[in-house]
Amino acid sequence: MTAESSTGERGGIPGPGPGGSSRVKRPFIVQVAALRKAPGTTRHELRQGVIDGMAAVSVTVPAGAVVVADLALASYPGGITVAGTVSAPWHGECRRCGGPVAGQVAATVRERFAPSGGADGDEDAYPLASDEVDLEPLARDAVLLELPLAPLCSDGCRGLCPQCGINRNVAACDCVPGGDPRWSALDALREP
Ligand SMILES: [Zn+2]
Ligand SMILES: [Zn+2]
Repeated sequence: MTAESSTGERGGIPGPGPGGSSRVKRPFIVQVAALRKAPGTTRHELRQGVIDGMAAVSVTVPAGAVVVADLALASYPGGITVAGTVSAPWHGECRRCGGPVAGQVAATVRERFAPSGGADGDEDAYPLASDEVDLEPLARDAVLLELPLAPLCSDGCRGLCPQCGINRNVAACDCVPGGDPRWSALDALREP
């Protein structure tokens, strides 16, 4: 059954275009020329990709993690409004016990893209150049704003003993609460 071989891979999974790549290099770029030609119209965009180097004080978006932007783009006479959610996973250290802690941010965004130096002087807007919108800076800002600064592994985390350093989530110690750890260290040295 080797007939029809002249049609090659037709009918199969679409491959990359000529000279193209199966991997989208700039997943957050959206062409908005058609949208801008018809102010008042809305388009839904679901884009996802890796955004490197996102970290807060004690948490990080893991390298290679996928950031998902689920956004509605709407044109208005001065530019494009973008509203929806941007989500990303994060991991870091518990502020009390130092143990691993992980979670997911889902940031709500409502921003504008406008031509820089426009008549409106929209300084709060992201740049809109040559009918192209880059959602990556928006996604990055939204996630960074939403990352927790001092996460807890659980609301009931008991933390470390300030005197002996034991992890009180997994073990108990005989330290007296309120005692000064510096004096107890001296006491231990003085013991015969
Ligand atoms: Zn903890
Ligand atoms: Zn202790």
